[in-house]
Amino acid sequence: MNPSALENQDREELLQSSRRLLAEAQALSSRIAAVNEIATAINRKLDLNEILRVVGKQAKWLLDFEHCSVCIQHDSSWQVKVLFGPAKETPTPYEPKKDSPLYYALNTGQAQIVLKGSNIDFLQDYASQILIPLRSEDRTLGTINFAKFADHAYTEEDMRIGYLLALQLSLAIRNALILEQLKQAHAQVEQRNRELDAYNHTIAHDLKTPLQAILTFSELIMFTQGKVLDDKGKDYLRYVIEATGRMGQMIDQLLQLARLREEIVVNPVMNVNAVVDLALARLRSNLDSSPIQITVQPDLPPVLGQAQWIEEVFANLVGNAVKYIGKENPTPQIHVKGRVEGNLARYQVEDNGIGIEPSDQAKLFEMFSRVNPEFGADGLGLGLSIVRQIVTKLNGTVGVESVLGKGSTFWFTLPSA
Ligand code: ADP
Repeated sequence: MNPSALENQDREELLQSSRRLLAEAQALSSRIAAVNEIATAINRKLDLNEILRVVGKQAKWLLDFEHCSVCIQHDSSWQVKVLFGPAKETPTPYEPKKDSPLYYALNTGQAQIVLKGSNIDFLQDYASQILIPLRSEDRTLGTINFAKFADHAYTEEDMRIGYLLALQLSLAIRNALILEQLKQAHAQVEQRNRELDAYNHTIAHDLKTPLQAILTFSELIMFTQGKVLDDKGKDYLRYVIEATGRMGQMIDQLLQLARLREEIVVNPVMNVNAVVDLALARLRSNLDSSPIQITVQPDLPPVLGQAQWIEEVFANLVGNAVKYIGKENPTPQIHVKGRVEGNLARYQVEDNGIGIEPSDQAKLFEMFSRVNPEFGADGLGLGLSIVRQIVTKLNGTVGVESVLGKGSTFWFTLPSA
């Protein structure tokens, strides 16, 4: 052979091996691209069964197998789910044999490659097996298992590709488990809320009966025995009657809060003035003996809502305006107004009362928040939180503008009718 032929042969071999290397690199890169695609697909799913279904369907692009399964946590033990190939009956919970490669993979977190059969019962028909642990935050969530009938069918490179898939699958499973836990926690909180509401309702309801008896009998004593009581005795009895009345109002507020969780049906309320009149009628006993001047704009705009609950909002806002009008106010005034703003109806209750510090205004609508208790008005700090909950449920918003010492304007908007 002449030297140039030798040179040609070397060149030919070099060319061939570089072609072979190129083909291998291309195969590897398309397998890695497939891992990415599967990762994107499974990370879009948040349900464990869906994730496993996608893996069973798509993993063929990465790795050759006649069987694909996962062994995953079920309560505090294991469960086998076959994703591809005939499903062999496995008991749940599943206990891997102590001397099996599956037990080893689950307990050490190390991938196992089997070249010629193992003692894993659900893989007994397959000579070649790869078992790759699914790990998240130092915890083994299970394994993903690939198997083929022929022996010596898998290489270290196959295991590496399987490992890349296992990394992605672990993440997706972890997310699905977290979501499941969140759902369970949410359901528990909802259940607890329902129980607490029922409890509140029962307590408030049960308290009203004896309270009503105290009120009735106190009034009866005042009426029938009033003559035999001296002035002090009558004063004491009046305190009892007043305090019982106030307690009744507070219990009513608690009952309302419990009721607010129920559905509210929204419908057009055309005559909002009639609704305000009903709210004012409730406050009549407070207003009759007071010098407060109340005006109501005669043409309040119609609204989408629910008359009973809107009455509640006005009763609370006007009731507060009366309560916080100021003891020394020489010209106490309250004005109820309304106007249409785009597709909203906006109502406001203005007073020239004690007003509220700017820094206090944000927390007024929270439950049990009272910003000027030194003023000495009765209340639990629930009224405005009830107002906000009602208005929010009716698809509206609520707010306040106020200047300390000058007065406040509480407003709310609702979809206009
Ligand atoms: P309550 O009146 O039972 O304390 P609310 O939730 O109705 O509870 O009101 C919360 C707090 O907001 C009141 O304690 C009061 O300090 C303040 N507030 C409400 N309305 C007015 C008002 N019109 N003027 C001044 N302060 C008010």
